[in-house]
Parts: sequence; structure tokens; C-alpha cells
Amino acid sequence: MNVLVTGGAGYIGSHAVKFLRRAGHEVVVVDNLSRGFRAAVTGETPLVVHELCDWRHIARVLRGNAIDCVMHFAALAYVGESVDDPLRYYRNNAAHAIELLHAMRTVGVQKFVFSSTCATYGEPKPEHIPISEDCPQQPINPYGWSKFFVERVLTDYSRANPDFSCAILRYFNVAGSDREHEIGEAHDPETHLIPIILQAALGLRPHVEIFGTDYSTPDGTCIRDYIHVEDLIDAHILCMDRLQPGTRFIFNLGIGKGYSVRDIINATQRVTGKKIKVIEGPRRPGDPPRLFADPGRIRRELGWSAKITGIDDIIDSAWGWYSRHPNGYAGRLD
Ligand code: UDP
Repeated sequence: MNVLVTGGAGYIGSHAVKFLRRAGHEVVVVDNLSRGFRAAVTGETPLVVHELCDWRHIARVLRGNAIDCVMHFAALAYVGESVDDPLRYYRNNAAHAIELLHAMRTVGVQKFVFSSTCATYGEPKPEHIPISEDCPQQPINPYGWSKFFVERVLTDYSRANPDFSCAILRYFNVAGSDREHEIGEAHDPETHLIPIILQAALGLRPHVEIFGTDYSTPDGTCIRDYIHVEDLIDAHILCMDRLQPGTRFIFNLGIGKGYSVRDIINATQRVTGKKIKVIEGPRRPGDPPRLFADPGRIRRELGWSAKITGIDDIIDSAWGWYSRHPNGYAGRLD
């Protein structure tokens, strides 16, 4: 298939590009490089540096490359930033997605795979954990709402257009890198737990701060579901392959098992062989104590489940990238 990957210069999008090509698909990337890196777009993949809100230009790219399916990863994804500047998030994540869909409609592209998030569930009640797709969606920040709005648009748009098909994929915590450790996670600022611990292991940070040790969990720290990026993208490609006119998949993507912040720190010490200094700090506002997926629906409907489920393997994969590229893409083109 000919696939347009938006946000293909970002962490998850760049893995989609690599694995789609490996699976034999033709790929074109659109990215505004506001947060992504040219060097993350591997192979000879064409990169169009442009804004998605310019639907006429995007329509030309779709038509010019005879695109069959769009995988939409381009988004801003800092919760705190979304609280400080909600308009930016609603424009970039919600309004631009609508312009992209408009460009697709203009050209007649009918397949869409959307990068959504478990942040659309907000703070689920204990009876909804593990979280299935039927858990009520009540985001608690503009980032979660911006993704939720796009889900809503897709639901209405697909009801009105029987030829359209989409997969709405709600990610839990994504980690790891490709096997060659050619591409990986590189955020500035970095806020995610595994990269932060790995930076501490490399001596790039003095310590790791645990945000809250008084949660109602076995060791008092928050529990999350960490899914390997390769498993995550495999699920995208599988969904894309199964889209038929009228299909609307909604799937959680997680491993179905939760690990606490302390579990992650201990596993990182095991994997890296480095002692990591830990300090215990207050809770971070808006962090639910336990979030992990019930990934049963995609297993039942498409036979997908994560292959890399050992936390040491996931962290080892992330370490492979960080230990080789401690400064991310710095010093490489863009
Ligand atoms: N966390 C932490 N210290 C950090 C970064 C994160 O204790 O420096 C915790 C955070 O409070 C959450 C978990 O690690 O409970 C995962 O956070 P992350 O930001 O990686 O992902 P989120 O679950 O917020 O999307």
C-alpha cells in the first residue's frame, strides 16, 4: 500500500516508517519538524516538511503519491503544556486532524489509522481497571480532550461515509527502539519515566525523582502499562491491512500488565548494571495511580497481542538506543 505517515520524524512515527517499509509498503512522510528530526526518517523515505492545516497542499501530496492510507501520528503530547496553552493543543491536534481528513476526502483517500491515547479515559474508577475500550472516556486535560475530539470526529465521519474506514488506537506507555537502535525516543524536554531513568544511568542527570510514593498501590508508586514500540506498530500495520469500507476499529494497545515506578527503576538498574540515585518527591498533579490495559478486544478480533512483555526486554531495547545516542539526534542533520 502507499501510506502517508504524518509525524514520521517523531518517536513513534519514525518507527512506523521503518516497519512499514520493511513490510513492503511505500511511505511518504509529512512532518513540520517542530518536534521531530529529519535524521529519524530512515531509508530514502520522502519527507514533506509542511503543516497539516494547509489541506490543499496535503491533498496534492495525497494525490501525487496515490496514497491509500494515512497513519496520523503528528501531535503535541505534553500534558502540562496542554494545560498552559490549550488553544495550541486544540489547533494542532484537533483542528489540523480535521483539515487532514478534509484533504483526504477531497482526494478520496478512505483509510485512516489514528494515534489516540489512554489519556482519553482520564482517571478511570477502580472497577474499570484493567481498562477496556468500554471504559467511560472523561479526559482530565486538554491533551486528552484534543485526542478525544478527533475520535468523535472519526466516529461521526465514518457513520456518514460508508466507504471510509479507520482504526482508533489508544496507546498506553510506549517504550523501546528498533532492533538496530537506529531510531529512538528523543524529546526536549524529556518528561517520560524510562528515558529519564536511562539518562540518569548515563550520568546525564544526577538522580530520578519519583512523583509520589503514597499511592494506593503495593509499593506506593504509580503503575503503568509499558508497550514496546515495535509491537505497537505491528498492531497499526495489522489494523491497516484489515480495514475494509465501513470498518471502525477501536483498540487499546498495551501489554495488559502494570509495572510501578519502582519496578521500572529496579529493572533499569538490572539491565544497565548502573546504580541510579532516586529521590522521593510529591505527586505530579493529574497522575492516576493505576493505568493498564485490557488488550482483549484486539486479541479477539485480530489475533494481535504484544510479543515483548518482559519489562527487562523493553528497557533493554530503550537502553540500546540511549547508550548509543546519549544526545539523541543532536549533531545529526536537523
Ligand atoms: N514519573 C516519575 N518521575 C519522573 C517521570 C515520571 O515518577 O521523572 C512517573 C509518573 O508520575 C507516572 C509514571 O512515572 O506515574 C509514568 O510517567 P510518564 O510521564 O512516563 O508517562 P504517563 O503515564 O504520564 O503518560
